[in-house]
Amino acid sequence: MHHNIVVLGDGAVGKTALTRQFCLNNFPEAYDPTIIDTYVKKVLIDGDECELEVFDTAGQEEFIGMRDQYFREGDAFLLVYSVTSRASFQYIKEFRAQLLRIREASSVPIVIVANKFDLYNEREVSTQEGAELARVLKCEFVETSAKTRYNVESAFYIAVRALRKR
Ligand code: GDP
Ligand code: MG
Repeated sequence: MHHNIVVLGDGAVGKTALTRQFCLNNFPEAYDPTIIDTYVKKVLIDGDECELEVFDTAGQEEFIGMRDQYFREGDAFLLVYSVTSRASFQYIKEFRAQLLRIREASSVPIVIVANKFDLYNEREVSTQEGAELARVLKCEFVETSAKTRYNVESAFYIAVRALRKR
């Protein structure tokens, strides 16, 4: 099976870092907000092989033109915020609303990803708040660190499991 996974979220939350850790096993230290790319990775999840096409997107402003296309073609979405940025957390609701509007659906497979778990001292959004938002929005939830690779694989696997359930 082939699945399109779209990585969305505010600028600098770690979309590119998560995508690259998952697909290429490397972590980009420097921040280049213009990077947008697509990677294909074959994975075995719960005994079923599948090919994931991962779409890294750029922040809000830059990609608005391509947004609707991503929204339509995605089979599952990672909605990423950074635990170090309350503003990025506040965007999550809006991304989900836009997504549902464009899909004309009441639900779409979404994993809310709380990234930068490793930055303990800079945390602005608690685990509880993230989990509660996911519960209210009926999304999956996972905390990750693209830097240490903590839960990076899980985030994508949870997305695949969510779309398989449908
Ligand atoms: P994007 O705009 O959402 O694609 O963000 P990037 O993936 O380019 O990441 C923005 C900056 O945050 C870069 O300097 C990354 O190295 C850094 N970064 C991304 N994820 C993490 C993480 O999990 N932990 C830490 N400490 N830094 C991260
Ligand atoms: Mg990026």
